[in-house]
Amino acid sequence: EGSGRRVVELGDVENLEANGSVLKASVARVEEEGVVRAIVFIEDITQQRLSNQSQNAFIAQATHELRTPLTTIRLYCEEAIEAEGADEQVREKALNVISSETRRLERIVGDMLCVSEIEAGSLNIRRESMRTEQLFTELEEDYQAQAKDKSITLDFDLPPKFPTIQADRDRLGQALHNLMGNAIKYTPSGGTVSVTASFDEHDAMSVSIPDTGIGIDESQQERIFERFTRADDRRISQVTGSGLALARQIARLHGGDITLESEIDQGSTFTLFVPGTTESKQAA
Ligand code: ADP
Repeated sequence: EGSGRRVVELGDVENLEANGSVLKASVARVEEEGVVRAIVFIEDITQQRLSNQSQNAFIAQATHELRTPLTTIRLYCEEAIEAEGADEQVREKALNVISSETRRLERIVGDMLCVSEIEAGSLNIRRESMRTEQLFTELEEDYQAQAKDKSITLDFDLPPKFPTIQADRDRLGQALHNLMGNAIKYTPSGGTVSVTASFDEHDAMSVSIPDTGIGIDESQQERIFERFTRADDRRISQVTGSGLALARQIARLHGGDITLESEIDQGSTFTLFVPGTTESKQAA
């Protein structure tokens, strides 16, 4: 009698990546010349379920990351309002914090947009003339305070002259921010994070960020870049962490790459390389 729809879950549903399946069965009643038949459709919706799960995890992580800067901004806004006209120094400090936390929010939202673009296969870069010096002044401004809070020494070893290159300023900034943020995040207090930038005669750019942090086991060194291959690969279950996948994608869209050397408990060095554009310009 009647029609119905039932979702049947088989195997280890808590751990779908390992060995679970979700099947959806729909039953339709068909009556023809007094004969009643039932048609049963069985659909395997495991991949759909997995993709929903990873989307939910991503949203949960993203909202969690948005919350901290928002709370900081609210507190410092209140402080700035209270200090109005009374204590200029307090007010100035509060405004600086608000400004840097707002930039952090912009970066998080930028990363989220890029992540969905990568998943949709539509992440692009827009090359324009950009002054490379800015990349590093911004990094220094944005991370000096964080490093100091954690008692990490932040060193910059920069060339005396910076070329103007053809690249996507915002995206490259994003990639470097992700590498820098990780270096500080995964380096314990008392450690050192350095930034070394160099350019060759064709303006190819190489930026290395060695840290004295926790290091990455050799078996994990490729995997940490690969979170986005997860969609089709049921063995990879972790859904957090997309910064490195994003940074590498940005480098590759510029024709470059990110490489890694690391030893557990000793530290890691991520190097972002972007090939020069001067050579091709001369040839043309
Ligand atoms: P998230 O840091 O949010 O997890 P990422 O994609 O930025 O995501 O990094 C992926 C993983 O790579 C991290 O979870 C961490 O295990 C490892 N990792 C990245 N950078 C470093 C580093 N500088 N030192 C040690 N481990 C790192």
